[in-house]
Formats: sequence, structure tokens, C-alpha cells
Amino acid sequence: MAVIISIANEKGGVAKTTTALSLGAALVETGLKVLLIDLDAQANLTLALGIEPGKVQRSAGNILLESAQPSRISRETGIPGLDIIPANNEMTYTERYLPSRPGYEMVLRKALQDPELDYDYILIDCPPFLGAVTLDALTASNLLIMPTQAEFFSVYALRNMMTLIRRVRAQTNPHLTYRLLITLFDRRNRVHRTLAEQLHTTFSGGLLETVIETDTKLRESPIAGLPIIYHSPKTRSAIQYRALAQEIIEYVKETSAEPA
Ligand code: ADP
Ligand code: MG
Repeated sequence: MAVIISIANEKGGVAKTTTALSLGAALVETGLKVLLIDLDAQANLTLALGIEPGKVQRSAGNILLESAQPSRISRETGIPGLDIIPANNEMTYTERYLPSRPGYEMVLRKALQDPELDYDYILIDCPPFLGAVTLDALTASNLLIMPTQAEFFSVYALRNMMTLIRRVRAQTNPHLTYRLLITLFDRRNRVHRTLAEQLHTTFSGGLLETVIETDTKLRESPIAGLPIIYHSPKTRSAIQYRALAQEIIEYVKETSAEPA
């Protein structure tokens, strides 16, 4: 069974998509097989891999609304070992119509039991709001990674995330765990340093050790249609996303060793 990780935060622009892509590529680099799922109608993850969303006929939306089999919709990317279930703009309807399906929270969880899916990790890039689609992703996941900036509004937005996590644990997925990931960090910025310390105090074990710093190369890599690991293998963020992959691999080892 694949380890399923959602990457979500109500806030836009906190590096959810960048993290899905870069972490996915870093896991693949270690020899693992990874499936990315783009659940955002803006289809940024799809685009970042050089796939034109306007040409995507069948998307993650077909899984959520019509119970299409994920293995029929996934496609290869230019990177061996990295596949994607793409998004397209029609997925704005997915958010609207998904709640009218009975048991809609469980649709993705059930779909990902597809025996033809042969992956070590499935990474789900969520839309920037906490609606039905995000609820489905969290219900299907073992782990939620919440990228967050060390900025006041981002830290404030975590309250709603924590409320959603409690709701998911109570109603649809008692085993959901979460980890916060500090992104877009500028160590010269005093506000960043102060808020990062506060996050450490408030969340302690809930914070990932790896911190992703700002790196202009990350803004260039989507233009090339390549994850940062391949676009600029030695740049700071490539090294940090590799460290993140190692931390996640260790985390999964430790948690799966615990008795159920
Ligand atoms: P989200 O999916 O949360 O909306 P994105 O991953 O699209 O966020 O990132 C928002 C913007 O910030 C993008 O232009 C992306 O290239 C840029 N970005 C992400 N991470 C970094 C970073 N560590 N350094 C510099 N720019 C970054
Ligand atoms: Mg995004």
C-alpha cells in the first residue's frame, strides 16, 4: 500500500504545489515510485510538469464525480517513476457537485484502493480552500503536510486547518496525522525568525525539522516544466527538498513501526 500524503493549507501562495512537485521528485530520486494528484482547478501542478490543462480530457475530477479508476487517468511525466493524475479547469465543478454524492467524503479514499496503482507514495496537491475536495483528500491520507510561511496571516490561517483536522479525525479518518512545513523562509528577516520560533513552541513535534528557504530558482523551474531537483540539482531548495524527502521517509518508517 502506498503512503498517501495530502499537501494542504487554506492559504494560497504558501508553496503547496511547489512542495508536492519537489518532494515528489526528491522521493523518486531515491528510487521510489510516486503518483502526484492535482486536485486544484487552477492546475498549477499539471502545468509545472509541462502538461497543458486545456488538453487534459480526463482529470482527477472524473475520479471524484464519476468514480473513474485512478490507474486509467494517471499518466507518465518526463521523469521515470513520477506519474500524475492531472487537473483541468473543469474541476471548478467538482467542488460544487461532489457534496451531492452520498458518502462523498470517502470517494477518493475508496478510489485509491485501486489494485492497479503501484506506488510507494501518493502526493495530493489540494486547492487553497477547505471545501469538499480537500475533505476528500484528508480522508484518504495517512499524513497531511501543511506548508506555511512564517508570516502573521499564514500562522493565523492555521487555526482553520487545525479545526478541519479535528473534524476529519472525529468523522472520517481517525488516523490522520499532520506536520507543519515552514516554506519561503528568509533567515535575514526578523519577523520570519520570531514567528518560526513561535511555531516551534506552539507545535513542537508537529513541525518538520526541514525548513524550505526562499530560492529564486524555484520560480524558474515551472517555466522549464521540471521539478527543481532536475532543473537546478545543486540549488539550496533542491538540497532542502531532498532533506525533506529523507525526513518523510524516516517519519513513515517510525510511524509504521508503532503498534496499531
Ligand atoms: P500554492 O500552491 O500554495 O499556491 P505555489 O507552490 O504555487 O503555492 O507557490 C507560490 C509562488 O511562490 C510560486 O510562484 C512559486 O514558484 C513560488 N515559490 C514557492 N516556494 C518558493 C521558495 N522556496 N522560494 C521562492 N519562491 C517560491
Ligand atoms: Mg497551488
